[in-house]
Amino acid sequence: GRCIGVDVGGTKIAAARVEPDGSLSRRFRTDTRAAEGPASVIERICQGIEQVMGEESVEGIGIACPGPLNARTGVVLSPPNLPGWDRVPLKDRLEERFGVPVRVENDANAAAWGEYLMGAGRGADPMIYITVSTGIGGGMVLDGRLYRGADTYAGEIGHTIVDPGGAPCGCGRRGCLEAMASGTAIARAGAEVVRKGNRRIRELSGGSAPRAEHVFAACREGDEDASRIISETVRYLAIGISNIIHLFNPRAIVIGGGVASAGDVLFPSLRERVRACLMPSFAGTFELLPAKLGEDAGVIGAAALWAKRSE
Ligand code: ADP
Ligand code: ZN
Repeated sequence: GRCIGVDVGGTKIAAARVEPDGSLSRRFRTDTRAAEGPASVIERICQGIEQVMGEESVEGIGIACPGPLNARTGVVLSPPNLPGWDRVPLKDRLEERFGVPVRVENDANAAAWGEYLMGAGRGADPMIYITVSTGIGGGMVLDGRLYRGADTYAGEIGHTIVDPGGAPCGCGRRGCLEAMASGTAIARAGAEVVRKGNRRIRELSGGSAPRAEHVFAACREGDEDASRIISETVRYLAIGISNIIHLFNPRAIVIGGGVASAGDVLFPSLRERVRACLMPSFAGTFELLPAKLGEDAGVIGAAALWAKRSE
């Protein structure tokens, strides 16, 4: 039936009604204003749900939320992107308020499920989804189901270690894929070469701190520092992805997130690098595909948690 999907991000909250065919209506969007704390953020989530609910009944509400969280109990633990949140019973709060069943899922898992049912990963099993954005997240579909693990914490591809002595990660450890190859890591490397005298990246970023897209733009122009940064990024992504391929023998790896918008630069070199990292038996067993749902992945995936097959 018809469901509501809500995507709670560190910067914005998006909601919509989602029809069984995946089409969206009654879109809602507002700033998260995460710094105001849980009560205020939950109030804005509720406003969004009210706005898209309308008169007709809905079968369920799905919430894609930054982790860590427990997807069975719907308790949000303490996401770095949601300051002040600590074991917030989001599912219970929303069920009390709306009298409609609610499912809460890690945002990358929800996006993975959306891409599997309605996006680039349709029909591929196992399917691995990776979002390369401010951080790096992931989700896995195995045997037609979202794989959550014993405590629903599975899929933290961004915190698999790709360089034991590497950069410090927000999780407190070193050399995680997220610390080495996220949009934040690319921007950090860009700032570093600007400090050492790189002009092209400085010009492209207009004097303010460079972002990942400026490094990609310089790379397209053949800037050497930028090309080296992107090539290192691709090297780390290829290590992380090849580890996952060896573990799961997936049919498709779907890559989304803001950094994947630079797919023209990223995908050709990433395909080549991944191939070079694999045991020969894995050659030709999988596709490496850009995600299709874009900004709507969270909303569609969250609503799709009500598709029968997700449990
Ligand atoms: P969020 O992390 O909030 O989910 P996004 O998925 O949009 O948001 O990811 C944001 C990251 O993607 C930032 O590091 C940003 O610099 C980077 N980014 C956004 N657009 C592009 C682009 N066209 N090319 C490369 N990187 C991009
Ligand atoms: Zn980490």
